[in-house]
Amino acid sequence: MSPAVTNEARIQATAREIFAATREEKPSVLSPERWQGEMMEWAMADERLKVEMLRFVDVFPTLRNRSEIGRHLREYFARQGVAAPKVLRWGISLAGERSPVAPLASGVIRRQMKGFAQRFIVGRDARSAIPTLRKLRDAGTGFTLDVLGEASVSEAEARAYQQTYVDLLDGLAAQAASWPARPVVDDGAWGPLPRVNLSLKVTSLYSQIDPVDHEGSVSAVKDGLRPIFRTAIESGAALTLDLEQFRYRDLTFAVFTSLLDEDEFSDYHDAGVVLQAYLRDADRDLAQLISWASDRGRVFNLRLVKGAYWDYETVLAAQEGCPVPVFTHKPDTDAMFEKLARVMLESPGQVRPAFASHNVRSLAAAIETARELGLGDTAFEIQMLHGMGEPIKKAIRGMGLRLREYAPVGELIPGMAYLVRRLLENTANDSFLRQTFVEGAAVEDLIQAPQTSADFGVEPARLPLVAPTDPDDPAPFANQPHADFARRENRDAYDAALAAVRGRFGAHYPLRIGGRDIDTARSLTSVDPAAPDEVVGTVAYGGRAEAEAAVAAARAALPAWRDATPAARAGVLFRAAELMRAESIELAALMTLEAGKTRREAVGDVDEAVDFLEYYGREMLRLGKPRRMGRVPGEHNVYFYQPRGVALVIAPWNFPLAILAGMTSAALVAGNPVIVKPAGPTPVIAAQLARLLEAAGAPAGTVNFLPSPGAEVGDFLVRHPAVDLIAFTGSMDVGLRIISQAAQHTAAGGVKKVIAEMGGKNAIIVDADADLDVAVTEVIVSAFHYSGQKCSAASRVIVLESAYGEFVGRLIEATRSLVVGPPEDAGTRVGPVISAEAKAKIEGYIEQGKREARLAAVVEPPQGGWPGGGFFVAPHVFVDVAPGAVIAQEEIFGPVVAVIKAADMDEALAVANGVKYALTGGLISRSPAAIERIRREFRVGNLYINRGITGALVERQAFGGFKMSGIGSKAGGPDYLLQFLEPRVITENTMRRGFAPPDELLED
Ligand SMILES: Cc1cc2nc3c(=O)[nH]c(=O)nc-3n(C[C@H](O)[C@H](O)[C@H](O)COP(=O)(O)OP(=O)(O)OC[C@H]3O[C@@H](n4cnc5c(N)ncnc54)[C@H](O)[C@@H]3O)c2cc1C
Repeated sequence: MSPAVTNEARIQATAREIFAATREEKPSVLSPERWQGEMMEWAMADERLKVEMLRFVDVFPTLRNRSEIGRHLREYFARQGVAAPKVLRWGISLAGERSPVAPLASGVIRRQMKGFAQRFIVGRDARSAIPTLRKLRDAGTGFTLDVLGEASVSEAEARAYQQTYVDLLDGLAAQAASWPARPVVDDGAWGPLPRVNLSLKVTSLYSQIDPVDHEGSVSAVKDGLRPIFRTAIESGAALTLDLEQFRYRDLTFAVFTSLLDEDEFSDYHDAGVVLQAYLRDADRDLAQLISWASDRGRVFNLRLVKGAYWDYETVLAAQEGCPVPVFTHKPDTDAMFEKLARVMLESPGQVRPAFASHNVRSLAAAIETARELGLGDTAFEIQMLHGMGEPIKKAIRGMGLRLREYAPVGELIPGMAYLVRRLLENTANDSFLRQTFVEGAAVEDLIQAPQTSADFGVEPARLPLVAPTDPDDPAPFANQPHADFARRENRDAYDAALAAVRGRFGAHYPLRIGGRDIDTARSLTSVDPAAPDEVVGTVAYGGRAEAEAAVAAARAALPAWRDATPAARAGVLFRAAELMRAESIELAALMTLEAGKTRREAVGDVDEAVDFLEYYGREMLRLGKPRRMGRVPGEHNVYFYQPRGVALVIAPWNFPLAILAGMTSAALVAGNPVIVKPAGPTPVIAAQLARLLEAAGAPAGTVNFLPSPGAEVGDFLVRHPAVDLIAFTGSMDVGLRIISQAAQHTAAGGVKKVIAEMGGKNAIIVDADADLDVAVTEVIVSAFHYSGQKCSAASRVIVLESAYGEFVGRLIEATRSLVVGPPEDAGTRVGPVISAEAKAKIEGYIEQGKREARLAAVVEPPQGGWPGGGFFVAPHVFVDVAPGAVIAQEEIFGPVVAVIKAADMDEALAVANGVKYALTGGLISRSPAAIERIRREFRVGNLYINRGITGALVERQAFGGFKMSGIGSKAGGPDYLLQFLEPRVITENTMRRGFAPPDELLED
């Protein structure tokens, strides 16, 4: 027999041995004798019930009193379609509002939930955890402590985590010295092992952690880790950096290796990191780690896991249209686990392996590979989660192997994400524990070698390749995936693009009229708002004469362009999209320097522009097909669209490419030649759009690029008799002026059509049961990213009274943690505002705010002021704001947010709707009833639930509002293009002398 076959036989024998030792026992959490086991069985029997149960577990710790518990129970489980078991329904009726035993029932549920959490959590802190940890050791099991909680939302929270880690190490080390020795857990093949062992998450140590700022994040996390590492060394403890979501993988490895490369830690050999076998390129990770250790002549601890974020990674990749970084065929993950286990065991000089799994087959494979390689049983360890897989643990201990439990400590609230992950894992169809202890799968099936799919070993896709769209056969629309900054090549490309754009600083851009460059004596200067002395470029100045020429060129181009087929017109958009994709990073870098957008914001803007081109191209193909109306004999009716004529596009500077491209391409593809009047501060990026559209085949005269200052030429064109259509996005005042002027001046074709997207005064409501991690994070993004200069930005936060104090406290700290600075720095979260004028206006509102509310947080400028003399305005949070205050009513268009307290949802809704705008709005809540109500009663164009309120995507979140937020249909939606078209119907009588041709001979 070949060695592989012998080893496979041994693996299966060992797996059988472990199974035999489990002797029909069930892990306590899955055991039907316990109520938790019963609960898990319900969850596994019905997917809908499982969703509600996971959600209830998630919201539970924030429920502040009995009536809240009762209300949520009813809302989650007494709904149509939720098949709650009888006993649960009975419990809910007892906890009902009018039930005399409601307090009792709610108390029971509270106790049960705590009992459930205690299965997985060993204590609230070091002191309360000690009895359980000692019990574990007495039973021959080591531990690694994990402090519950996920990412920190502020630096204050990050510092608190750091202190907790240090205190835990200090507190436990003092105790551990006096614990009796347990050789089975205290002795490794290489010598004594630390008794105290801590696992920690890098995201807890730096609130601004983001792969886009790889170097800055690595450095900040290391700053957070150094005191912890020092304490660990002093107290003789082991530390492991957990691995979290895929986007933090490279960052975590970089932190780990570069920290240990520091002299101070070069002799510390009890540090470890984690490897996730579900990642398609996990073998590359391992090879790199081994090579690093081998170069340094050092050894490190390595815990092999499958990976705890499988659902998250697959959902996120689907939402973002990115390649899925994890395997999607479960046996591939299992096979990778076995493959990596072998490589780890084959590298004893570098790796001290730990195999973390509850899967008997996976564990047996690791154990037998170690034996095959002649390594002793102490050369590796097995790790499992506290509260899971007890019978397997017992079997492993029975085999004399070293076993360590991953033991979380902390409070219930920060522990919820962890608990929900464990519940998901235990109840998933593919879960080994479920198959073994619930489904009762045959042992012989469970111990078979994993059968890999064709996907195994395939190099993971990098950037998704988007094929150019064929107008005769377009694929369904999909949003352009954003560049993934977790990948080094994209970060490097951005730096190179910034340098390339800088290399072209000061260039001059002529007007483009009728397909010709036109220069003028006067020019406009575009500067970098972060450093206004730097000239990004100059553009020719379009005055009245040039405006007249542009109108004439557009008029001349109209007949041929109108008669071009929809496919020909759409083809121009698709080719432009292709060109834009090829230049996307450079276009984004230009936006960073001309519009002050941080990297993510700028990339999002370019991708949205691509989306508009792709979407409106397809929309024209859809609408371009004439429709037969009615089918009566002797008559032929056809319904079709024609363009409106010459279009004037007046664009804003805040989405200098996306909105400009959206309005221009919609007008163009519908057959209307366009005069593009870009916003004053961003003409260079607008020149790129005009260039790309012409390069994509837009005929001369169909795209006329006419930068011109202020209202003078704008008013002239709006009133011009040869301009039929005006598409505008900008402030309410300008929008209303355009509407009124257009109404008073007729065009060649008659009444002028105006599409005007105007302002917003958008609110996010934070419910009493909101997940405040989500609320704070999403408010920060919605209010402050791009310095709040989005019409969709959150400028009011309405918080229900019982959550108010905690929310405000966390929001203040999160605001103070924001990094304000030049947007080209990868670590900057908030850049400058667009101009000196904008800065002065926002500062006026800040002064107003100081008079009418309490200023609670502001990001202080660095010593010596903001860099480069840029137009910086620090983020400001005003609290206790009256709903009628000026700062709660007027659009500010800057990083200023007003926090308003509401007694209940009635009041919150009245405040939310109590402004003249209706653009975007949001709700953060875990109450199904509140969500239902908000859907009905919070009347805004785009309502977002449990997420931020900016970042609308073409098609998925077609964008636009009503009231004073604008007139017209949603951009990026199915009705938008209709506004650029006029419908016509032609009816022909096909009967001659009593003879009507048969219907099938008539054109459709
Ligand atoms: C001590 C310890 C420490 C841990 N630390 C970490 C950590 O730092 N980071 C981390 O991410 N996880 C960590 N985990 C969790 C671990 O990654 C697994 O989620 C968990 O152990 C379940 O895997 P299993 O082998 O026990 O069970 P199994 O049931 O054999 O495997 C379940 C796992 O398979 C994978 N999977 C599920 N469905 C599919 C599918 N359709 N296609 C491909 N793969 C799929 C997932 O990773 C899932 O968790 C740790 C686990 C332990 C025991």
